[in-house]
Amino acid sequence: MTSVLDLVDAHVAYGPFKALFGVDLSIDMGEAVALLGANGAGKSTVARVVSGLVPLSEGRLVLNGDDMTGAAAWRIRRAGVLQVPEGRGIFGSLSVEENLTIGLLMEPRARRRELLREAFDRFELLAERRSQRAGTLSGGQQRLLALAVALIDPPTLLVADELSLGLAPGILDEIYASLAELKRQGTSLLIIEQQTERALDMADRAVVLSRGLVAYDGEPSDAVAVAGAMLGPASS
Ligand code: ATP
Repeated sequence: MTSVLDLVDAHVAYGPFKALFGVDLSIDMGEAVALLGANGAGKSTVARVVSGLVPLSEGRLVLNGDDMTGAAAWRIRRAGVLQVPEGRGIFGSLSVEENLTIGLLMEPRARRRELLREAFDRFELLAERRSQRAGTLSGGQQRLLALAVALIDPPTLLVADELSLGLAPGILDEIYASLAELKRQGTSLLIIEQQTERALDMADRAVVLSRGLVAYDGEPSDAVAVAGAMLGPASS
């Protein structure tokens, strides 16, 4: 199986504070991995490292077999990694429709129209707001738009860090449906979620972080038992 991600012996420090102490994490093509752990365990730090938003102090970041350690975030995005909602992947000053078509300018007009129609069929809520500036959408709607953009031009690896934070259940169902669709299209997923059941339902594998180290890497069903004590009530 080909890895889309190999994070090898990842160490990260924020100034004098060390957040990761040698994390190994691999994700295969088309695989969905849920990353769990108590508050402060280092989950978002892993997400930022994978997206090139935080540098490694030691270790390696390998994407699709290419060593991308130290690469700028835009190069990592070009290599096929998209993180939502951080660096949302949308342009606030452009309309919903412009955000959906901006990556399609090289496509023939008919193909552009077809892809746009598919996106609006999929997300009625966005169709109703096609002319609205993306920056004026609610947080949940912006997350949905970022996923709609991702579905038009699927990334190799989607890093979803707390997508559900503060969202109503209705929009959450839509967001998880689009994650499932991305997975069906072959995108690998790294899902960080306080609502662990949702992430574990989708996951092929679960990784549990504890204090900047991998404490478990295996079956999602066993992760619940293994991580239960570690996650504590704050993350349930
Ligand atoms: P949460 O679920 O609370 O978001 P997390 O598992 O995602 O937690 P991280 O956000 O990766 O954890 O944080 C790991 C550790 O690094 C925490 O102790 C946090 O306080 C610290 N940390 C995170 N970002 C910074 C920063 N910019 N500067 C200093 N310390 C930070």
